[in-house]
Amino acid sequence: MKKILLVLISLCVLSGCSSLHTHQWEEATCDQPKTCSKCGETEGEALGHTTDAGLCTRCNGLLEADLINKIERKISNFCNTMDNINDEANDLQYYVDNMDLFYLEIAGINGRFYSATSNLGDIIDLCGNYQGLSNLKSKAQAAFDAIPDGNVEYSEYSINNWVDQFNAYNDPVNNLYDTINDFENEIYQASFNI
Ligand SMILES: [Zn+2]
Ligand SMILES: [Zn+2]
Repeated sequence: MKKILLVLISLCVLSGCSSLHTHQWEEATCDQPKTCSKCGETEGEALGHTTDAGLCTRCNGLLEADLINKIERKISNFCNTMDNINDEANDLQYYVDNMDLFYLEIAGINGRFYSATSNLGDIIDLCGNYQGLSNLKSKAQAAFDAIPDGNVEYSEYSINNWVDQFNAYNDPVNNLYDTINDFENEIYQASFNI
């Protein structure tokens, strides 16, 4: 009996005891492979996150959080500027009978568009080549490409042309807003896990 015990003990030393317990496996996670909670032995590989930037839908983690925060600030600036632009565009109706005032109002709006364009450009740059940000990037690019021409001249034709461009700008901006809402929701969800 003593001999058997000795053999068992030496076997145990040789094999690192793994044969003497039943592994208690914890399922693989985004950054940990399937792991035995008793001995730390692993099997297979970590699952990896479901995205390279933004919300990981498996662990609810926020990937590239610093970058996401920078993009959020640009988005906030952009949305504030667009709110101002929309307010001023609504006021245009009051100047319809006065081309001087109408033109002045457009000049003011164009100044704001300059700032909106700059924010959109920054958002596009920050999104880089991240797969998780590719949708936001393409929607921001579509809005960027549709921004009305700032070089409006003081003529009825030019102003009408600007108004047409302004109206056409609504679609890509609304698409961008939808994507921004999804983006903000993702960050909100991830914030429960920080
Ligand atoms: Zn084990
Ligand atoms: Zn994850």
